[in-house]
This record gives sequence, C-alpha cells and structure tokens, in this order.
Amino acid sequence: MTGTKRIALVTGANQGIGLQIATDLAASGLTVLLASRNLDRGKAAAQKIEGDVHPLQLDVTDEASIRAAAAHVDEQFGRLDILINNAAISRASGEEAETMQDYIQRSRATLIPVAEVRTIWETNVFGVLAVTQAFVPLLRKSEAASIVNVSSNLGSLTLLSSDSPYRAVFNPGYGASKTALNAITVAFAIDLEAEGIKVNAVTPGFTATALNNYEGTETVQQGAAEAVRVALLGSDGPTGTFTASTNQTQPW
Ligand code: NAP
Repeated sequence: MTGTKRIALVTGANQGIGLQIATDLAASGLTVLLASRNLDRGKAAAQKIEGDVHPLQLDVTDEASIRAAAAHVDEQFGRLDILINNAAISRASGEEAETMQDYIQRSRATLIPVAEVRTIWETNVFGVLAVTQAFVPLLRKSEAASIVNVSSNLGSLTLLSSDSPYRAVFNPGYGASKTALNAITVAFAIDLEAEGIKVNAVTPGFTATALNNYEGTETVQQGAAEAVRVALLGSDGPTGTFTASTNQTQPW
C-alpha cells in the first residue's frame, strides 16, 4: 500500500494523447501507471517521462491481460485513484498509414465490413467496459476515485444531427463506438454515483496522432489537456459530464 500520492492508470499510454496525459499527470506529482498493450513500447515511453512512472502491460481486449494488470496494481499499490480509459483504434487494419480521405470514404456505413466494426468496438467499447469493471474494486479503495473516458465529439448524436463538420466522418466503426462509449460512461456514472466515484467523458479535439495519420490540427498537449484537468479534480468534482477543453460542455 502506498501513501498519499495519487495513483493514476492511463490505458494506451505509450504514444499520442495517452502518453501526453501520462506525462502531464507525472509532472503534477502523481504516480502514473503507464499502460500499453506492448510492454516494450510502454517501457520505452516511460523512460521519456520525468516523475514516478511505472510501465504496465495491459491489452484492453485481452481478459487475462486485464486480470493480471489489476492483480499487479493491487499487489504493488493496493488501490487506484484515477483510471483514464484512453486506448482506442480508428480502424482494424494494422499500422500502415492511410489518409483520412481514404479512411472516411471506405468506412462509410454502406461499405465498412462488419468484422472491422466488431474489432473497433472490441477495443473502444467492450475494452473500456472490461477494464473499468476490473479496476472498480481498486477504485473503491480510494478516498477520491475518478474515471475519465477519452471519447470524441464524433460520438455526439446531437452534434451529428446538426449542421456539423463531424457528419462527414461519422461511421458505424470508430464514430459509433464513441457514441456507445458515451452511453457506457453515463451507465457507470449512474451505477457509481452513490459511492462517490466520478465518471466523466472528455473529447480531445482533432489532434495529430497515429489514429488519424497525423492529420489532426491540434497538438497532443492540447489534446490531453481536458482529460488531465478532469482527472485532477477532487472528490467534489462533477460526475456524468462530457466536456472539451477547457470545461466546455459537449452535447451527448
Ligand atoms: P494513438 O496515438 O493511435 O494512440 C492510441 C493508443 O491506444 C496507442 O497507445 C495504442 O497502442 C493503444 N491501443 C490500441 N489498442 C489497444 C489495446 N487493445 N489495448 C491497449 N492499448 C491499445 O491515438 P490518440 O489520438 O492518441 O488516441 C487517444 C484517445 O483519444 C482515443 O480514445 C481516441 O479515440 C481519442 N481521440 C483522439 C482524437 C484525435 O484527433 N487524435 C480525437 C478525439 C478523440 P499501440 O501503440 O500499441 O498501437
């Protein structure tokens, strides 16, 4: 069992926005569990960060990996204060680059393979559900527990029903997975409200990362800012919110 230093776990933290969230939380003096599906990538990322950072293997689609990670955190730290569900994929295909234009075209509702939708939802929706369920027992041991789900404006049905630029990018894979993630956020917020565990969703904005072939227009520092702000709110912070930087309410 560690002392009073707050302990945060960030999934998918070896690159992109997750790495920046881990960097910023470590700079704020937290103990950071930098989770990655590939431990070597996580170790390499952790070495770049100043502060109390611990790499942790965690593939959000692998039950055994989730179980082992939760057991390890229990053994090493005895509790968790902040869980940031950041890991996500935008496509099923591996690591090869694909322009946003090609991606948008082939991922339209009439074209995207059902198998690809399942793969994306496995990470972005069921992965968050499984990881959150596995870590709730450790969050219950915290005096001020918080869960932050990194969602997207693309998941907002309200925005998509308006004259929004997001309409062109919405699809049953990534876009709809974030709508489902928003729904799951609300479900956890309702379930954990009586226990005082805060559950909120944030959207980073269009950030230059591997997820979008680095075509995003914001920096990872900008993309990480709202998740970090919400993560650092104390026990009197809100629950069941969906916000963009800085604290701008987003419609569900
Ligand atoms: P990214 O650079 O591609 O990072 C995604 C991270 O998730 C990587 O570390 C990746 O690991 C990890 N990941 C993927 N599948 C995983 C799995 N099964 N288990 C564990 N980790 C896994 O993308 P990003 O833009 O930083 O995305 C971070 C979050 O921001 C996501 O939730 C995304 O939906 C959200 N977001 C991004 C934008 C944007 O414009 N970039 C906009 C709105 C929302 P590997 O390195 O091993 O692939």
